[in-house]
Amino acid sequence: MTPDDLKKTAEIIARARSVISLTGAGISVESGIPPFRGKGSLWETIDPMEFAHIESFLKNPERVWRGFLAGMKDLLDRARPNQGHLGLVALEEMGRLSTIITQNIDGLHQLAGSSDVIEFHGNFAWQRCMTCDTLIPSSDIDLSVLPPRCDCGGLLRPDCVFFGEMIPDLSLSRSRALASTCDVMIVVGTSAVVQPAAMMPVIAKNSGAVVIEVNPEPTPLTHSVSDHFLRGTAGRVLSALVEEIRKILD
Ligand code: NAD
Ligand code: ZN
Repeated sequence: MTPDDLKKTAEIIARARSVISLTGAGISVESGIPPFRGKGSLWETIDPMEFAHIESFLKNPERVWRGFLAGMKDLLDRARPNQGHLGLVALEEMGRLSTIITQNIDGLHQLAGSSDVIEFHGNFAWQRCMTCDTLIPSSDIDLSVLPPRCDCGGLLRPDCVFFGEMIPDLSLSRSRALASTCDVMIVVGTSAVVQPAAMMPVIAKNSGAVVIEVNPEPTPLTHSVSDHFLRGTAGRVLSALVEEIRKILD
């Protein structure tokens, strides 16, 4: 990322009418939550696609709770927003960002203070009983016996979208509508391979928006869909971008 790239993208964001962001696991890496893919992934010994697939969960919920969900809960309980999440809050406060579409289930955008967050894959903060549909805060569940159960005896599952499940209609239709009407989409920390989230930058681009991508590594979007690639971590790049936009707006 050169100072020139930063200046150019800051100008675009400062002058845009409607800016939205699409975020992925990468924005939470600096909060201590490893991504599924790319460097530093915690899941080197297990296949997250397998453990995060609904079929695996239904086949053996105890194995998935023990090998994946219990560890995830522990990480999420401790995680706090980082400079990347705070950078997006600053953009909103400057009137330069309206909505975040996130693939993350960690709730860190809301905790940081972003006000309009579409949680494409749900939120791990809640567990749902598969028998009576009761929602229980994750902080209240007892993991001493796995898999955890509701008072009715039903199995508890995170209120998230597993691989192999559908995205809630409302999240999908609202995201599509925003992607096709925004004039800038800032894509942060996603490997852009999980569908249908990965389609959002393509919809934005095909509708005439400028796509700005922030990631330490190139992705399938980088040399095709993204108009600008700001290489670096979310915390570093978004803080620098906010500073540059402030200079233009002040
Ligand atoms: P991914 O794990 O497939 O890819 C992570 C991306 O982040 C990579 O492109 C990597 O280069 C980039 N990255 C790594 N460190 C970064 C940093 N410091 N700053 C910016 N980018 C960085 O993530 P995905 O595309 O979001 O897809 C994974 C799926 O798994 C999602 O659907 C999500 O629901 C789920 N997931 C969520 C969390 C979370 O809630 N924090 C964590 C892991 C996985
Ligand atoms: Zn129940």
